[in-house]
Amino acid sequence: METKTAKTLDGKALAEKIHQELTSQITELQTKIGRPPGLAVLMVGDNPASAAYVRNKEKACAKVGIASFGQHFPQETSQEELEDVIESLNQDALVDGILVQLPLPEHLDAVKLLHQIAPDKDADGLHPVNLGRLVRGERGLRSCTPAGVMRLLQEYEISLRGKQAVVVGRSILVGKPMALMLLEADATVTIAHSRSHELKSITKNADVLIAAAGLPGLITADMVKPGAVVVDVGMNRVTDANGKSRLVGDVQFASTAGVAEYITPVPGGVGPMTVALLLQNTVASYLQTAKEQGKLNDK
Ligand code: NAP
Repeated sequence: METKTAKTLDGKALAEKIHQELTSQITELQTKIGRPPGLAVLMVGDNPASAAYVRNKEKACAKVGIASFGQHFPQETSQEELEDVIESLNQDALVDGILVQLPLPEHLDAVKLLHQIAPDKDADGLHPVNLGRLVRGERGLRSCTPAGVMRLLQEYEISLRGKQAVVVGRSILVGKPMALMLLEADATVTIAHSRSHELKSITKNADVLIAAAGLPGLITADMVKPGAVVVDVGMNRVTDANGKSRLVGDVQFASTAGVAEYITPVPGGVGPMTVALLLQNTVASYLQTAKEQGKLNDK
């Protein structure tokens, strides 16, 4: 019997396409606006994973023509110092997006810092004002990872209307905004979490299954409805038997690909889409500011 294999939702290719579109858009707008868009990524301490993510974001900025105003602070930086930096970036006319790379060292109040970012420069879409806009279905900056998932589903013309969507995970970063975006797209949404009973009986109903728990291999093929769309948000670093470190998702890819219709790989699925949407949010803020300043009146 022939073994079925799911089609890949190629986030890497789509992110590349978005980068190219942004590059042309920025080239065209810069002459009218008189400056490039600017993004400030703030990082505190020496977490190697965070450092890699920040490098990645800055490289992507350089590629599309976004100026980076990132700053790297020592581990012992105080809350007050960071609040002052955010305040001056809020006022800086060259900066359109501000992002605080998480996690932060324990002595810092991450939520307070995130709340201090001006909502219209909140490139990560995590400020309560932007989350409130999402709840209300109003325009606003959307959280990059779930917005990246939505964009990926849209690219492959996967309809969500009336579908059963299950989100595994309820974090403010991924699970909750993801569920709201699926709801906005008319899916019937269930959110599962660590206290949910019989996860399999929940995931088995999903036409669209989004795994965002941060547990390698949590979702196995027998938990997936045949023909489902499976999106793996998980990014977990594991060490294999040879002592080599690699990145895996929350879904057991090989076996699940035999059941699902579509599946995202890790790496190369949701990760690159998160960065692409971060750049897109920065450009959206840049455009909005230019419009408010009357610099695009001829458009
Ligand atoms: P998080 O804050 O740790 O949240 C994990 C969520 O999963 C929680 O809601 C938790 O439930 C739930 N959960 C834990 N164990 C579970 C289980 N056995 N069954 C069902 N639900 C369970 O993590 P996060 O920030 O949302 O990130 C989730 C994963 O996505 C991580 O691997 C992270 O690295 C990855 N991520 C990837 C990207 C990307 O760009 N690809 C971006 C962000 C995050 P409770 O609420 O009950 O504790």
